[in-house]
Amino acid sequence: MSITERNQAIASEYRWGNAKELAAKYGVHFTTIVKIVRGQGVTINDTPLIERFKRRYTVNKETGCWEWQGTMANGYGVISVNNVLQLAHRVSYELFVDSIPSGALICHRCDNRPCVNPEHLYAGDYSDNMRDAQERGQYFRERARNVRLKQTTVDEIRELYSTGSYTQKELAEKFGIAQAHVSRLVHFVQWPKN
Ligand SMILES: [Zn+2]
Repeated sequence: MSITERNQAIASEYRWGNAKELAAKYGVHFTTIVKIVRGQGVTINDTPLIERFKRRYTVNKETGCWEWQGTMANGYGVISVNNVLQLAHRVSYELFVDSIPSGALICHRCDNRPCVNPEHLYAGDYSDNMRDAQERGQYFRERARNVRLKQTTVDEIRELYSTGSYTQKELAEKFGIAQAHVSRLVHFVQWPKN
C-alpha cells in the first residue's frame, strides 16, 4: 500500500474519536492521523528514519567519514526523531550498530564531529567525561553568575543529557547554570548554529 493509498484509507475510515485506533492499525503517530484527515501534508514525516538519515550525509572518499549535510548544532549533525531533535551520530549508532547502553556517550574515533559513519563511532564510558565535567562545573560555579559557556561544555551538556542518565536539574547543578538554561541547550533553542 502506498502512502497515498494508506492516507486515503485512513481518511475514509476516520470517525470522531477513532484516531488512536487508526494510528495503531496503520502504525503511524496519533497526530499524523489528525494531519491526514485535515489534508495536511505528512509524506515527509512518513519517510522512515533510516531513509531520511541516508539522504543527509555524503561520504568523504579520503577519510571514509560520512559527513552530515543536514541541520547542524555546534558542528554535530542533528535529525528529528519522533519530532525531537537528536544528535545524528547517536542516531547512526542506534540505526547501524546497536542500542546505546544506558549512560554511554557515543564518541568519534575520527575526531570529526559531523561524521556519522558508524564504523567511526564507539560507545564510551562517561565516568572520565563526568569527572572532567564536575571540575568544569566547579570552575563555572566559581565564576560570576552570568556565565558564558564554552562550546565544548554545551556539547557535553547535550551529550550527557542524551544519555538519559542525568536530569536537567542535575546538569544545571553540575555546570552551575539554571535548569532553564540547560533546557534551552538540550532542546537546541539556544546556540542552534555552528
Ligand atoms: Zn569519521
